[in-house]
Order: sequence, then C-alpha cells, then structure tokens
Amino acid sequence: MAFSMEDGWKPFRIKVVEPIRLIPRAERERKLREAGYNLFNLASEDIYIDLLTDSGTGAMSPAQWAALMEGDEAYAGSRSFARFREAVQGITGFPYILPTHQGRAAEHVLFSCALDPGKYVLSNTFFDTTRANVLAQGCHPRDLPSPEALDPESPHPFKGNMDLGALESTIAEVGAGKVAMIVLTVTNNAFAGQPVSLANVRAVSEVARAHGIPLFIDACRHAENAFFVREREPGYGDRSPLEISRELFSLADGCTMSAKKDGLGNIGGFLAMRDRALFERCRERLILVEGFPTYGGLAGRDLAALAVGLKEALDLEYLRDRIGQVRWLAGRLREEGIPIYWPPGGHAVYVDAGRLLPHIPPEEFPGQALACALYLEGGIRACEVGAAMLGEEARFQFVRLAIPRRVYAREHLEAVVEALVRIAEEKERIRGMRLISGEGPLRHFTARFEPLPD
Ligand SMILES: *Cc1c(COP(=O)(O)O)cnc(C)c1O
Repeated sequence: MAFSMEDGWKPFRIKVVEPIRLIPRAERERKLREAGYNLFNLASEDIYIDLLTDSGTGAMSPAQWAALMEGDEAYAGSRSFARFREAVQGITGFPYILPTHQGRAAEHVLFSCALDPGKYVLSNTFFDTTRANVLAQGCHPRDLPSPEALDPESPHPFKGNMDLGALESTIAEVGAGKVAMIVLTVTNNAFAGQPVSLANVRAVSEVARAHGIPLFIDACRHAENAFFVREREPGYGDRSPLEISRELFSLADGCTMSAKKDGLGNIGGFLAMRDRALFERCRERLILVEGFPTYGGLAGRDLAALAVGLKEALDLEYLRDRIGQVRWLAGRLREEGIPIYWPPGGHAVYVDAGRLLPHIPPEEFPGQALACALYLEGGIRACEVGAAMLGEEARFQFVRLAIPRRVYAREHLEAVVEALVRIAEEKERIRGMRLISGEGPLRHFTARFEPLPD
C-alpha cells in the first residue's frame, strides 16, 4: 500500500496545550498493580499517551468552542437543538431526530422500542455496547462479517462488509419474521475499523427490503467510511464525503450514532429514522430515560458544538490527515515487524497480540498482557479487544491503538512505535494473565486481572 497521504499537509495548528507527563517506571508498575491490571482503572494523570479510545477524546475547533458560548439552554425548543437537527438532517436525510447523551443511549431507546424478546438482530459485527443492548432486550445478536475480515492480511478494500450469503442463509434458517433488525456498523469497529462499501450497503438494503426487515446504520464513523469509499470504490472518486454519507443513509431506515466519534464532540449522540410511528414510541421512551426531545440528556451548548463538529468531520482535508495518521502508525509498525491487522482502518491500529505473543494462549489473555506491557514500557494506554472484552467469541486477540481526533502529533506516535519495538525485542518475558473478577458482556470495563507466575 502506498502512503501518499503522508505527503498531505497538516490542516491545523495547535491553539491550546494540555500538559502531559510520563511518570517513572516504578510508579507505573505500582499504579498498574493497584488498577488490577485493567487500564480502564488507571487515572488519566498517570498516562502519557492515551490511545484507549477515540470516543469523546478529540480536540474541538475554535468554531465549536464559539458555538458552545452560543448554546441555548432552554428546556424546550432550544435554538441549539434546531441547529443540531438541521445538521443531522442535512447529513442523514432522516426526518425524525432524537438527541441522546451518547451512542449507547440511542441504542437503548431504539432497541427497547423496536425489538421483541426472542428475535434475532443481524450485523456485520456488533460493537460491545450494541451487542449488550440487543441482549438486554432478550434478543439474539448475530455477527455476519465478510470472510475476508477473518484474514488479517487480506488486502480486500472493504473488509467491514457484511457477508451477503450468510445474511440470506441466516434469514432462511431463523425465518424472516424472527429477524427484528439488521444493523450495519460503519466503519466496523470490532473488526479493526474496516470500511463497508456502498455496494455492500445497497445489497444488504435490498435483502432487508425484500424481507420487510428494518435496516439501521450504527453510524459512529460514517465520515471515515466515506473517505474510504471515495478512495477505493469505483465511481466515487469525485464525490464529496458528504455526498457519500448521504447515499449511505439513503439506503437505510434509520441510524444510531455516537457523536463522540465523527461528531467531533466530547459527549453526545442521536437516533434518527424515517418511520413516524416508531419515532413517537422512541420519543416517549427518550423522555423517560434521557430527557425532553429537544435536549435528550445534553446541554444546549453540547448540541451547538455538535452541529458544527458533525460538519467538520466530513471535511476532506481533515479526513485525509486523520486517516493518514492511522496509516502512518500502521506502516511504521509493519516495517518493524509488529503484527497488525492489515490494511489499517479509519480510527485505530489493531496490534495482533495473538501473533506477537504466540506463547500466551487466548485463555491467558495475550491482548491484556500486551496492553499492560505497553503501559509499563511507555506509559501508553491502549484497549484490549480480544478474550477479555469479547470472551470466547473473540476471533482475534487485538490491542487497539485508537487515535483521538486532532490531539496527538507524529512525535507521540513515534513513541508508541518505539515502545512496541522494545516490547517485541523481549516478548518472551511477557506472561499471560488470569481473570480474578468480572463477568457478563461488559466485564472488560471493570474486570481485575493478575499476571501468571513464571
Ligand atoms: C462508541 C460506539 C458505540 C457506542 O457509543 P457511546 O457514545 O460510547 O455510547 C456504538 N457503536 C460503535 C461502533 C461505537 O464505536
């Protein structure tokens, strides 16, 4: 793969700085032990470079900060909500919009109104909270990733696609009446942030329509997906990310979105749809669990900043820089022989701990062990996406290096490369982990571990 984006220019400079520091190694050892070897339990002060997530960790633009000041905090009918709704409608084309405090709240509201217990919900791959929200309704989530996704070296341009054959056969197997919804996660976060082609969305949409099954987009990273479609899908090279995202949404019945991703916000989300009757049910539910429909758990200023951020995230130069940064990190790690999922997706580099640490079997959490080693080595926090997060369903033992938006410079990413290279040089010394406490589909947030003895 060519790294043409590296030649692109940086579309921003730094206006406000936030001090960070690297605490001494002995302190990192102590903090990690006290955290039960779970990086979610660490204080941000004790972290040098935080790649735990790209969710809500981005830097806002001056236009977003200015919008915050203009936030209208009226309980009902706020001007900020009108701007937010206009922005969401302009991108998605969906008429009915409900703000939520973040993506999982949108999932909860939608699923509690649209799913009956015992039904199946099919996806290219569910994100952890989305899967948990399907399970919470007594439904069965099923992942149907494309076969290429299972090969961490396949150069396929759209490894986030849904497997169309598996979609048809699953519908035939369980019966169309038992499938309550299809959810396409765009980009596919659980599968290394891989993009989904519009051809795939169109085909899924046709199957969904033929069987009368609603299709919703988990749209957290629709802008990054649009960038890949523009770059890789024939016929889209001259289309803007906005046009591509509009086409994506035109093929669906609605979407949920965490605006902490491609909304460039520190908090926020929404639920959008075409069906008026479903909207009215969701609106009732929203009032119960989130708030009045013109603020939905957010302050007016949050909505105002999101109205700006949702548009900025579709800027081509912004996307070129962002995805270019992910590609640069992936390319450097590959040069150094660190096994990563290839090609890199939009928001993160997924290090393959299963291949890097073959001496640690999945039941000893190689991803968790590597994530802990990375903190000890460089004060870097990453996120395990493997046996700790997904249990036995994990197909890979990943450590996700998620890149916050507009936050870190090349120097920070160089430090990440150096730390991983040092770890790889002495990888035999890394021991597996034992789970001490934590259960259920969201156990990774609170679980505690301890390193196995030599
Ligand atoms: C982050 C995320 C969510 C949940 O959003 P929150 O804002 O964290 O609640 C859902 N789906 C995907 C694909 C995500 O990346």
